[in-house]
Parts: sequence; C-alpha cells; structure tokens
Amino acid sequence: MKSVYFFNEGDGSNKKLFGGKGAGLAEMTKLGLLVPPGFTITTEVCNMYYANGKKLPRNLMSEVKKNIAKIERKAGKKFGSIENPLLVSVRSGAAISMPGMMDTILNLGLNDKTVIGLAKKSNNPRFALDSYRRFLQLFGKVVFGIDDKKFVQVLEKAKHAQTVQVDSDLNEESLKQIVSEYKAICENHLGKPFPEDPYNQLELAIEAVFRSWMGERAVVYREKYKITKDIANGTAVSVVTMVFGNMGNDSTTGVVFTRNPGDGTNKVFGEYLINAQGEDVVAGIRTPQPIDNLAKELPKTYAQLMKTCEKLEKHYKEPQDIEFTVEQGKFYMLQTRSAKMNAVGMIKTSVDMVKEKLISKDRALLRLQPEQLDQLLHKTIDTDAAKNHPSIVKGIAASPGAATGVVVFDVKKAAKMGEDGVKVILVREETKPEDVPAFFASVGILTSRGGKTSHAAVVARGMGKPCIVGCSDMKIDYASKKFLVDTKTVFEGEVITIDGSDGQVFLGEVPTVEPKITDDFRTILSWAEKTKRLGIRANADTPESAKLAREYGAKGIGLCRTERMFNARDRLGLFVEMIMTRTVGERKAVLEKLMVLQKSDFKEILKVMKGHHVTIRLLDPPLHEFLPNIEELINKVHSLEKQNDSNEIDSTKKILERARELAEINPMMGHRGVRVGITFPEIYEMQIRAICEAAAELSKEKVDAHAQIMIPQVGNVTELNNIKKIYDKIKSSVESKYGLKLKINFGTMLEVVRACLTADEIAKVTEFFSFGTNDLTQAVFSFSREDAESKFLPEYLEKEILTENPFQSLDVNGVGSLMQIAIARGRSVKPNLEIGICGEHGGDPNSVKFCHKARLSYVSTSSHRIPIAILAAAQAALLEKSEKKFKSKTKKPRRR
Ligand code: PEP
Ligand code: MG
Repeated sequence: MKSVYFFNEGDGSNKKLFGGKGAGLAEMTKLGLLVPPGFTITTEVCNMYYANGKKLPRNLMSEVKKNIAKIERKAGKKFGSIENPLLVSVRSGAAISMPGMMDTILNLGLNDKTVIGLAKKSNNPRFALDSYRRFLQLFGKVVFGIDDKKFVQVLEKAKHAQTVQVDSDLNEESLKQIVSEYKAICENHLGKPFPEDPYNQLELAIEAVFRSWMGERAVVYREKYKITKDIANGTAVSVVTMVFGNMGNDSTTGVVFTRNPGDGTNKVFGEYLINAQGEDVVAGIRTPQPIDNLAKELPKTYAQLMKTCEKLEKHYKEPQDIEFTVEQGKFYMLQTRSAKMNAVGMIKTSVDMVKEKLISKDRALLRLQPEQLDQLLHKTIDTDAAKNHPSIVKGIAASPGAATGVVVFDVKKAAKMGEDGVKVILVREETKPEDVPAFFASVGILTSRGGKTSHAAVVARGMGKPCIVGCSDMKIDYASKKFLVDTKTVFEGEVITIDGSDGQVFLGEVPTVEPKITDDFRTILSWAEKTKRLGIRANADTPESAKLAREYGAKGIGLCRTERMFNARDRLGLFVEMIMTRTVGERKAVLEKLMVLQKSDFKEILKVMKGHHVTIRLLDPPLHEFLPNIEELINKVHSLEKQNDSNEIDSTKKILERARELAEINPMMGHRGVRVGITFPEIYEMQIRAICEAAAELSKEKVDAHAQIMIPQVGNVTELNNIKKIYDKIKSSVESKYGLKLKINFGTMLEVVRACLTADEIAKVTEFFSFGTNDLTQAVFSFSREDAESKFLPEYLEKEILTENPFQSLDVNGVGSLMQIAIARGRSVKPNLEIGICGEHGGDPNSVKFCHKARLSYVSTSSHRIPIAILAAAQAALLEKSEKKFKSKTKKPRRR
C-alpha cells in the first residue's frame, strides 16, 4: 500500500484518501497552478496510526524522507541546511472540510542553526527570527500541548517593553528575547532540550496532526455535523514547502472566496495582509485589508489572483475558498476547497450558476443542504422597532441574522450555559478553534477583533449563527467580566441583541420580524417542486400557521391536532367543565358549546387550505392532561383553607378528586386517543359533527374543502370499526341536513405497533394512513421520549450506542422496517392507499429521503420546515434518478 504521494501523483477526486486539502493541492498542481512542492500522507496511515496504538507505521519515515528529497530537488533547498534551509508546513485535511478543527504546524525545520541560514539567505534576520518564534509557539502548543497563554504573555510583554502595538513592529532584539523565552517554556515543560533535528520535528508533527483527528474540537465538530466514518475516516497530512508572505512589502498572504459567502454576490471577496503569514489573517490578530485594495497595492498579484479564481471555479463548478501567498512577487496557491456559505449565499450562487450555464438545475438543487435553509426561515431584526433601541456599538457584519441572549465571556461557561438551555451570546476578543464547542451552544458570537475571514466569522457562517467581528470600539475586560463601549458598561449576564446582517449591537431585546422568501429562494423552491415526487403537507393547528405553510409551498395539512384548540385560553375552561361532568347528558350539554367553537376553527383552516386535504385528528391526549397537576391542586386547597374561601375550596377539591381519578401510571400507553373516543363516544361525535358541518357549510359557500378525519392510537381494527359506525351515521345525517354529498375521508394514524402489523385489516376500513412516528418510535424502542431525552439518550449518543436521536431522525432499520411492513400490507389491500407521515421526522432531511424510497404519498411537518422538506424530497428524487442511471450503466450486457 502506497502511503505517501507527491502532489503530482495524487488524485484530486479522491478526498477520502488524500483529504480535501491534499486532493486540492494535487488537483491544482495538475491544473498547472503554482503550488509549493509537497506530498500527502494518506488517511489510511492515520487509521493505521490508531490501529497500532498511536504509533506511526514503521516504514513511514523512510517514505517521508524520500519525498523530502524530491521537495529538496524541486525547491533547491535542503532540509536542515545551515546555508539554504528548506522549511515545511505540516497540514491536516480530512475528506470533509473541518475548518480550524485540527492542527497544522508551520515553519518546521527551523532550529538555532537553520535560523541563521534563513536570515542570511533571505537577507532578513528579522524575518528569520519572526518565523522561528512562530514555529516554537505553534510546535509547543500543538506537539507538546503547552498552554498558548504562556507564549502570548511573553509576546505581550515584549510588545509592551518595546512600546509597539503589533507584532510586525517587534525588532530583532525583542524577537531574539522571545525566541529564547519560548524555548525555555518548551524545555521546562519537556524536561529535556527542544528537538533540533528537522526529521525528528517532522515525525513529531505528523503524529500531532494525526492526534488532532481525535482532539476534542474535531470530535465535537464531527458529532454536530454528523460526519460519520463513511463520510470522513481519519485525516491526511500534507507536507508543503513553506513560502513566505512575510518577506517584505512585495510579499502578502490572503484568504478569498471566489464569490461572497455572505450573500452569494459574484465578486471575489476576502482579505489580505502585506508582509504577513496566513495565520495572521485567520487568527484575526492584525486587521486585514479588503481584497479590492490589492488591485492598487500589488496590481500584478491582483490580476493573477482574479485569473486563478476564474480558473478554479470553472474547473470545480463550485465557488472556492482559497488561500494564497505571494513571496517576493511570486504567486503561490496553498489551498482550494468548496466555499462554505450561509444559506443566502448558497441559494444565490445556485441560481446564478445555472443562469451562467456553469451548472445544471439538478446540481443546483443537490449542492444545497436542506437543513441550512433553516437559517432563512428565522427572524431578523425589525428595523422599525430597532429605531427605538439605539445601537451601542457597531462591528463588522460577519454572519447574518439576529440573536438575543445574555453576554458570556468565558468559553467553558458559555458552552455549559447554552447546553442548559440559556440563550448565550459569546463575547470574546477573538476566537480560536478550541472555542468551537461554545459556538454550538451560543445563539450568537461577538468579537472585538478580526475581519470577515477571521476564525469567528468563518465558523459562525458555517453554522448559520449570527456573528459580528472586529467590533474594535468594544473594550473587553475579562477579569471584571464586562465590556465597555463609549461610556456604557455591559456586564456578563446582561441581555444584548446582535444583528449579524449589519453589525449593530443593541442593549436588551430588540423585536424581530418573520423572514421573507426572496426571489432566488422562490426559484429554488419552484425547481424543487417540479423535481420531487413526495407530497408536502404541514402540521398546523391554526389559520395563521396554515397560511404560513401555504406561503412556503405546503399542499395541504397532514396533521391538525385538535387538542391544541382546546388548550386555547377561551376553550380550556369549557373543556375542563366537560371533563368534570358526571353524566352523559351533562357532558353533551358542554360539548354542544365546544362544537360551535371547533366548527368555526375548522372552517377557517379549511378555507386557508382550500383545494387541498386537511387531515384533522380527533382528540388524542388523556383527559387529565387538561387539568392542573395534583400537587398544584393540593397546594391550592391548602392556601384556600387558610383564607377560608369555602366556595373555591369546594370546586378545587372537586377538580382534585377528578384529577386523582383520571391519573395514570403510564399515560403514554394509557387512556388516550381512540380509547377515549370509545369510552366517551360523545366527544368524538362532537368533533366528527363539527368537521362534517364545517365542510358542509363551506361547500354551500362554494369553498373547495377537503377534510380528512384521522383517528389516533388505533391498534385494532375493531376499535376503528367502532368509530367508523359513528362517523358513517353522522356523515349521512349531515349530508341529508345540508342536502349534499361530503368530500370527506376517514383514516387512521399508524403509531401503535399492532396497527402496523395488521395494516391489511385496517386498510379495509380506511381511506388513508398516516404514520405517527413520534409514538411509533417510542413504542418500537420502548422509550418514553421525555424520559429518554432527559435521562439517558445524551449518554447513549455520546457512547455511540445510538448514532442519532431516533426522535429527530427516523430509525430506518427498526421503525423504518416496521413502516415498510405496514405499507406493503396496507397497499396489498388498497394499492393506491394514501400513506403519509406526520411525526416530527417529516421535516428531517434524511427521514424525508427514506419516505421517498418507501413510496409514501407525502410528508407532513411544521410550517417552518416546509421548504426544507421540499428540497429534501427533490434531492431524494434526484438521487434515485442517478442511482437508476448508474445501475443501467453497470448492468451486464446479456449474452447472445
Ligand atoms: C406522532 O405520534 O407521531 C404524532 C404525530 O402524534 P403526537 O406527537 O401528537 O403524539
Ligand atoms: Mg402520536
């Protein structure tokens, strides 16, 4: 097995073996772009390293040495030479880009002797010393695990002593002092001398990069983005000749996106720093210049950069995120990868690239991540209301959207508070890769330093979290846990709002507005609509959410939970009154009043959804859920007794008595759904009548209403037959009352295991099925959702006993298999039976893909997730198309 590939031997399409970085460097080398000579150690070696108990394979270093010799020939420099030393960077890179999550070492090969050679050769001792101190710091931190603060303190002390602001102003004397202190830090930590031999350094660095694959931030990142082993298994290591952007004013380094990642505009976007190394741009230590300025400062370089961007986009058919360095006028490419953009950027570039004929519509849909659309479906600052909330400071808008939360400065504290459900805005001077767990837990990020390509900006954009960077007027005092702007002091724990779309920071909570669907977004949804096979419906219980669902493209309602209507303020009292009744007669009298209300609710919703199906589920929860809890009632009785309020005492005691009667040991499996309908038939009678009459009245008003009546918790066809009798009777009585034929269907949820297994019997009585995968998942796993999520599921996920929360993403092997049995059995009786899904999984992209394959008729999800489901359904159809194409291509020709 070949473990090391020189760039010209690599394969740009094999990211799994070479990592994204290695593949990109190989591809650019093949494209004829100037890439510093180097080689890539494959991800297979990383796996061997772990399989060997964290030891490098025995022959690896001899392979590495052969390839270093090749670099030496190409670069005309020698590793460890005192005259003309070769320095290299050692870079991580997995199949999937994980920006900043793993480690990289720069300037490797420097030691007390080679630094003199570098000084002579470059004719720039300051530059050589500066490179050396950078190397020692990074090597100490990454390879030996020394706390970075120790190095930063030395650097800050030196700047203070020399009275300079930025490190590029440090003189030779200061740098010499820093180098010697850095070495002392390393040697104190190690208890032995710093490794001077470049090969020894290289071996240690390769190991450290492999180790960083299992580092905390990389592991957290993979968990959050569901990067499983089949997507990316291990990191590759690329060893690249160092080129220097810090060799004077004709040298520069920069990071650019071929299109703007914030809004997708087709204009090169990014930043550069003259006389600096790449880490300065990314770390946000010095504020870089916008790339447009380069046209004036270094016009030849700018022209080369523009040409390179064009070439790479044409080649990859995808906007690129590139790193370049110019060493004394010579332009080198250090990296190219697909640009991570927010949802606005992704959508605009998808539409634009189709218009430019760079990609097809299918590709435009496939390159989008459905989950990312969520960013567009959330609120932004209400600019009118914001006028009453003066902004306290402005920074650089780095990732759009609004977020309100409490200020937290400490990274660990932010992570903990966020995980506990507190809305946190992480406020830092700058952020580092190890801060990423706090990003996940925060609703927004605010930094006082850095530009649009700083670490904070890149990571927040990737996550779609609002972010402001470079807010230089904000002075942070970590020790006193506060920041100062002008004359205002904001302490940790105070609420602020940040607007990542224009960089404004506000004190307190600023009102926000619902998002608008842009023209580009509509275009994408219309392409997806034409591509998908699955129907998309909404889970909506109010006319407002039904309207929103229509606007987002839902064609119908897959689940209207009627109990939500009973929970509304003006209904709850009546519903409780109904529960308190002791005779059927009393109950019917209260239900009569409730019917009027329900009928008008149903009419409203059916009107909004005219022309489309509206699936209305009859009452599902157990009755005691509508009463106050027993403990609360006991306390109320005690306090009323103290006040001697005899009237209220009596009524509260009655409610307490009823609550005790209705209490259940396991309500999830208790007296609910159809079981309530059978034991209190007057409740279902009322609801069925309300639906039938609403439909009949709308029909008279010439509104095209299509109600579907859905029975929950059915496990047995006899249960259903019992309700069907009631339904048939009421339906025909309403039909004769109004003199018309109703367009109503009768169906059931499939959320009880037995119902799935007897779906053929059940299909005979029903016109549709809808999988209630929330309850079905509980039943298949024997997990109670609330208990699972609050008690053991997090640990199950951490220990990888489960790879996904089955309540979020459908458990295809278990619950999915049961669904397939039910589908097959149901359709064996009625081949065209409408079968949908209305559990939470209906809005999860992977679950939607399963539903497409299982040939469901539709998925139903909350209004805000409709566009996500539409796109996921389109992608499922496209994937099926390409799988079919692949199969027909690989089919063996028949023998004659
Ligand atoms: C379900 O069980 O999937 C469902 C939609 O019903 P609910 O969540 O209301 O129990
Ligand atoms: Mg259910």
